[in-house]
Amino acid sequence: MKKKLLFIIGSGLFITFVFLGSLYIFSFRLNGKNKIELPVGMEYKELGYKANIFSLSFENLVKVNGKVDSSKLGKYVITYELPFKKLLREVFVVDKEKPNIELDGDKEIVLSIGYDYQESGYKASDNYDGELTDKVEITNNIDKNKIGEYKVNYLVKDSSNNKTEVERIVKVIDNIPPVISLKGSRNITVKVNGNYEEDGYTSSDNLDGDITNKVKVSRNVDFSKFGTYSILYEVEDSSNNKTTISRTINVIENVEITYIKGILLVNKKYHLPANYNPGVNSEAYQALQRLQADGRVAGHGLPLLSGFRSYNDQKYLFNSYVAKDGEALASTYSARPGQSEHQTGLAFDVGQISDNFGNTAAGIWLKENCHKYGFIIRYLKGKESITGYKYEPWHIRYVGENVATEIYNQGVTLEEYLGVA
Ligand SMILES: [Zn+2]
Repeated sequence: MKKKLLFIIGSGLFITFVFLGSLYIFSFRLNGKNKIELPVGMEYKELGYKANIFSLSFENLVKVNGKVDSSKLGKYVITYELPFKKLLREVFVVDKEKPNIELDGDKEIVLSIGYDYQESGYKASDNYDGELTDKVEITNNIDKNKIGEYKVNYLVKDSSNNKTEVERIVKVIDNIPPVISLKGSRNITVKVNGNYEEDGYTSSDNLDGDITNKVKVSRNVDFSKFGTYSILYEVEDSSNNKTTISRTINVIENVEITYIKGILLVNKKYHLPANYNPGVNSEAYQALQRLQADGRVAGHGLPLLSGFRSYNDQKYLFNSYVAKDGEALASTYSARPGQSEHQTGLAFDVGQISDNFGNTAAGIWLKENCHKYGFIIRYLKGKESITGYKYEPWHIRYVGENVATEIYNQGVTLEEYLGVA
């Protein structure tokens, strides 16, 4: 009896021991962590679990429930169940990616002092929220009236509070040059050895204010010699912006109307006053008409291209050439106002304005016959240094038949004929 009881108790203890031991040895656990962060958009991959006693597996008894929608932020729970034990895995779909800001235009811009900053635009987007441009906050510390380097800051946050900041550099600089204003005319005519007194000038700058006392004047004028000179006025502001302007000084022999041997002389040295405005000379014009009529009979069309031009007409014309070719080049083929023979009413351009006109039948006829009508070819080939102008086979000047014939026979320029070459 006693043995049987002991056996029962012993067996009971043994079973209990084995049962408890097996529970203890039994293993049910998750592979990986039971809390996982999953970046939004990334596919959830089940890491699995282990359920076994030693090598004996119970895995096919485990029931797994729960789904992860990785396209949506949130917390998802996966359950792993055995009849006597349940495990959980929490999956957090999170967005840790920062939004993106793209600036239109340059990342570094230069702003002229005093001018308003103009935003050149930007775009913001986020992997989860999509378009975020409206959410961008812009701040800047620009003082448009002060030279310096400033920043425009662009800040945007997505719905998960990820933030992105970018900046644009704005350099406020002074690139506005000062202004020089000349008193008096910018184009002055003085007689050789005549008096010229500086009419004065003022200069001001957007930042520095009145800088008249900083103007440097360089006067490269020889008042004893005929010529066209410039007085240069230069000024530099405190930001090294420079302005240079000039005044043209024409030093001339005479501004009176000059007759030598009864012939009106106009060239770069002998000028006509602005108010000398005789219109076309009727004697010269009648001579031109006879020349044209006879030319036609000889088979040559010699249309009138240009006749009398007033001082102001010439001024307009010369300035338009200067705008096109610059003053230096323009003055080789066009006269300054007061220096054009066309202002005399005695000069005409006929035929064709072309260097080659002198080689055409009409040009040759004109050259050989115009003296019979009182005209000379005024600007001869190879005589540029005397007349001051390049060869112009189309420009004829009325001097009367006798003088024209003498000049033609001598083969000289008007200056040479008059002894002023
Ligand atoms: Zn001409």
